Parts: sequence; structure tokens; C-alpha cells
Amino acid sequence: MINVEHLHKSFGESEVLHDISTEVKKGEVVSVIGPSGSGKSTFLRCINLLEKPTKGTIRVADQDLTDPKTNVTKARAKIGMVFQHFHLFPHLTVLDNLTYAPMKVKHLSRQEAEQKGRELLERVGLQDKESAYPNSLSGGQKQRVAIARALAMEPELMLFDEPTSALDPEMVKEVLDVMKDLAHSGMTMLVVTHEMGFAREVADKILFLDEGHLVESGEPNQFFDNPQSTRAQDFLAKIL
Ligand code: ADP
Ligand code: MG
Repeated sequence: MINVEHLHKSFGESEVLHDISTEVKKGEVVSVIGPSGSGKSTFLRCINLLEKPTKGTIRVADQDLTDPKTNVTKARAKIGMVFQHFHLFPHLTVLDNLTYAPMKVKHLSRQEAEQKGRELLERVGLQDKESAYPNSLSGGQKQRVAIARALAMEPELMLFDEPTSALDPEMVKEVLDVMKDLAHSGMTMLVVTHEMGFAREVADKILFLDEGHLVESGEPNQFFDNPQSTRAQDFLAKIL
């Protein structure tokens, strides 16, 4: 589903991603972990071209996103993204948040989009909130709406950038539970997270980034129980 080869990303003179190569298979859940500032968000943002790679190739669903001939808007429509700070449309109801892009971009009728939107709200446990505005929701509810909104575009791949980091502790589980369901439904997911329990339990693979280098990549049990690099050992010693 994702194939990254020799990805480099610089901001001005400073290179923040150094020669990253990896792949994610269809249906896999991959957790990206590493210290603050290690390049996790930049890596994720390169995968849907919110950041333009400086060098290297990124293929998503057999399309080369780094080829100038690729229709980026079309390619990006296959990729859903969920951010730490939700980014819901505050002036739209929950249901309108879900129907906006499918109607605008995919030209669904309002009726089709609303039917689909209601199914998704049920899936994330918010069927009673369709007429609410985002400001009246808790953080956990907002993030579940954000996930449903991304799913409304029927993405082939979902990117999550620290989806639970802005939440009060008691709301983390409801969001992780939705993500687990999604993982079990076969969605391909790339998840930047500090939730090591989730990473160990749900992920098929861990990518450990440090200072812009992909230092380790492997199965969760192997990574957590027997990290190979001193950088990963130090990181895990600090957080576990
Ligand atoms: P992480 O998500 O792991 O905390 P980031 O990808 O946000 O790390 O940042 C990696 C490095 O890139 C940091 O040193 C950060 O300051 C730098 N960086 C990120 N975005 C920009 C930007 N738009 N302009 C300049 N530097 C940036
Ligand atoms: Mg980040």
C-alpha cells in the first residue's frame, strides 16, 4: 500500500528526514514512534504530500506521488488523515462535517452522503450527536467524529498523528477502541503514537525514528522486548 524509497526532507538548510525507506502492506497497522522532534509528523505529512519530499519516491496504492505527472488531489483522496487537534469544521454540525467532502469532492447526493454519514456515526458510537456542533462535544467525541469524517471519503489508507495526545486521560480509550475496530476491519493504518500499549497490541510493525533516521523497524514484541539499537533502548527506558 505504501512504498517509501530513500526519502529525504529538508526545511531550508536543515535536513529533518534522512534516507528513509520502508513499506506498509495492505491491511497492515504500522506504529511510528520516537522522541519529540524526531520527524514523525514530517514523515506522515510527506506520505500525503502535505510536505513535499526533497528527494526520494513515495508510492501509495501503486501511484507514485513524487512523480510530477501524478494527479495529487486524486491520489490524496485515497488517504485519510486524523490529527492531534481534530480540525473539525466548527460552523458545521457533526453530520455536515461528515457529508461536506463526499458531496463536494465525490459528488454524492446529500441523501447518499447523509446515509453514509449516519452509518459512520453509529460505527464510532455517536449516532445521537449528528445535529450537535463540535464545540459542544468532548475531546474524545471530537476525535471520533474526525475519524468518521476521514472514513466518509472511503480512504484506502488512514494516517493518524498522535490522535490521543490532546485528550484527557479518561477519553483516550474510547478513541483507541475505535482505532482498534478499524484495524480489525482490515484498514491499512500508519499511526504516530505514544500509546505503547496500543502499538504493542495492535501494530504489525513498529518504525522507530530518532533525529530523522529510521533507526529500527520490526515486530512489536521484538522491538519492545529486545530493541537492537542503544537509541531505542534509551527511549524505551525513559517511557516504559
Ligand atoms: P515529531 O513529530 O517527531 O515531533 P516533526 O516532524 O514535527 O517531529 O519535526 C521534525 C523536525 O523538523 C523538528 O526539528 C522540527 O523543528 C522541524 N520542522 C518541522 N516542520 C517544520 C517546518 N515547517 N519548518 C521548519 N522546520 C520544521
Ligand atoms: Mg509530531
